[in-house]
Amino acid sequence: MTAYRSHFADELGPDQLDQHVKVAGWVARVRDLGGISFFDLRDGRGIVQVVVDPAVVPSASDLRMEYCVRVEGTLRRRPAGTENPDLPTGDFEVEAGVLEVLSRAAPLPFMIDDRSHSEERIRLEYRYLDLRRPRMAANLRARSRCISAIRRTLDHLGFLDVETPTLVNSTPEGARDFLVPSRLRPGRFYALPQSPQLFKQLLMVAGVERYYQIARCYRDEDTRADRQIEFTQLDLEGSFWEREDVFAAIERVVAAVVRDLRGIELPLPLPRITYDEALARYGTDKPDLRFGMDVTELSDAFSGTGFRGFGGALDAGGVVRGINAGPMSPSRAELDGLVGRARELGAAGLVWAVVNEDGGWRSPVAKFLDSAEMAEATRILDASPGDLLLLVAGGAAMASSVLGAIRLELGRPGSHEELRFVWIVDFPVFETTEGGDLVPSHHPFTAPVSVEEMRERPETAVAQAYDLVLNGSELGSGSVRIHDPDTQRAVFETLGISDEEAESRFGWFLEALAYGTPPHAGFAVGIDRLVAILQNEASIREVIPFPKTQSGADPLTTAPTRVVDDHLEELGLDLTATAKAALAATDQPPTGPSEPAGS
Ligand code: ASP
Repeated sequence: MTAYRSHFADELGPDQLDQHVKVAGWVARVRDLGGISFFDLRDGRGIVQVVVDPAVVPSASDLRMEYCVRVEGTLRRRPAGTENPDLPTGDFEVEAGVLEVLSRAAPLPFMIDDRSHSEERIRLEYRYLDLRRPRMAANLRARSRCISAIRRTLDHLGFLDVETPTLVNSTPEGARDFLVPSRLRPGRFYALPQSPQLFKQLLMVAGVERYYQIARCYRDEDTRADRQIEFTQLDLEGSFWEREDVFAAIERVVAAVVRDLRGIELPLPLPRITYDEALARYGTDKPDLRFGMDVTELSDAFSGTGFRGFGGALDAGGVVRGINAGPMSPSRAELDGLVGRARELGAAGLVWAVVNEDGGWRSPVAKFLDSAEMAEATRILDASPGDLLLLVAGGAAMASSVLGAIRLELGRPGSHEELRFVWIVDFPVFETTEGGDLVPSHHPFTAPVSVEEMRERPETAVAQAYDLVLNGSELGSGSVRIHDPDTQRAVFETLGISDEEAESRFGWFLEALAYGTPPHAGFAVGIDRLVAILQNEASIREVIPFPKTQSGADPLTTAPTRVVDDHLEELGLDLTATAKAALAATDQPPTGPSEPAGS
């Protein structure tokens, strides 16, 4: 293949037996057994054992972990009893005739194998070593295969891969913009795109009927669990499209990716549930459907109850809802823990009950309930003797969200063996913030089902917007877009954006909509999350080659860095006292100058 190698490690098998082979890679594990040395040679694709007789190859004793070497020798079957069934090449070994150290390795900051668990900051600081680990190398390959399955599918469907700029005007997606100062136009800033949303809509105006892009997006968000300030989306849009066209395209893409990464056929079409139903049954718009324990309406069973804990809530217009946690025998302390958790989550309390053989309940409130009520609730929850039931009374949204959270804590599977995709449809147009302001549920370019409804009842108006959820994680969202400027203005107006502000921020976009914009719709899928779940990884950082820490830092390159004052000056910037104080507390020296000498 090359002067260094005839085969990758994963290509060695019965076909190469007794042949002369050349392999190259890194020394992964060395063992010395009575004069003969063995080491595992790891390359970008696999591992093969090399056996070295010092009488033939004297340099073997100098080998250290992670030295980069090349080996020439003969592929042999390992002696009976020494095979390694855990290794695809475990029946074979290369008997070295030539061993050359191509470069040495300094002492390692951590062991490079899948068994060692070092601190993430150190792993990120030495990411180039971390990525040598077979699991990480497999994740990189999976990511590449995912992207190629996406491209293959969309190219086949006639989509155009179009790049959009990353030094842009603001594209609101509900996060803060990253700003980039302009040197040539002092005092002005570019934003990095939160998504290519407005550009892809401009492409629809431009007559590009099917667009996609593997797009890098930037959102300056505070530390949130398992998010990155910089991430990758499959961004997609189609003209003369409705929701069904988006679903069909995305389902084909997702099925191709699942086929390539998991080797299984995803049953299509994917199931759908409405936003309202998701909130009622799972207490979240990202339901995990890998297990049951659905939140169930029990208000009717207790409509005439004498138990004040339930009756009071029902009289106040609230509900009684419950989950059947299945056969469980929790200790008293565990039950108290669940009650405490429900209170933390906002419930006044949590009623627990274990169903007895006779259908009655063992429960602190059993004495306040009559047996018909208990029997009816047991029936509705489809419970059997020994099942643990958990009930919450109060406002409907609170009851579902508290039970939904407990449901997840009790039932969420520990790994992503099973895949359960679901479309969540009919999102509201707006959400109301704690301060009472309306904000878009998705983004302000989403078409409402009815403009009249949106004007009259903005809090409850439904949008032509949808999310795709996998195993309880939001994979992406999209919508049918507004394609006429008047509706777009109406949405801005409902959001409390004045005409002048709309004109100054989005005038260019409103103008574009005025030139015969086709109806269009689209979607974006988070690639990091999709690959992480398919690779059964708990964090997206495991499938991003060079991720940042939760605080947005890169321990490897030390970004973000200080810059010299001249550079700031050139950009027309000055630091505030707060920023200067924050810098004084770090010992990082400034970098610069900005321009390479002589340019
Ligand atoms: N621009 C949206 C996002 O980044 C996706 C879409 O509506 O197509 O979430």
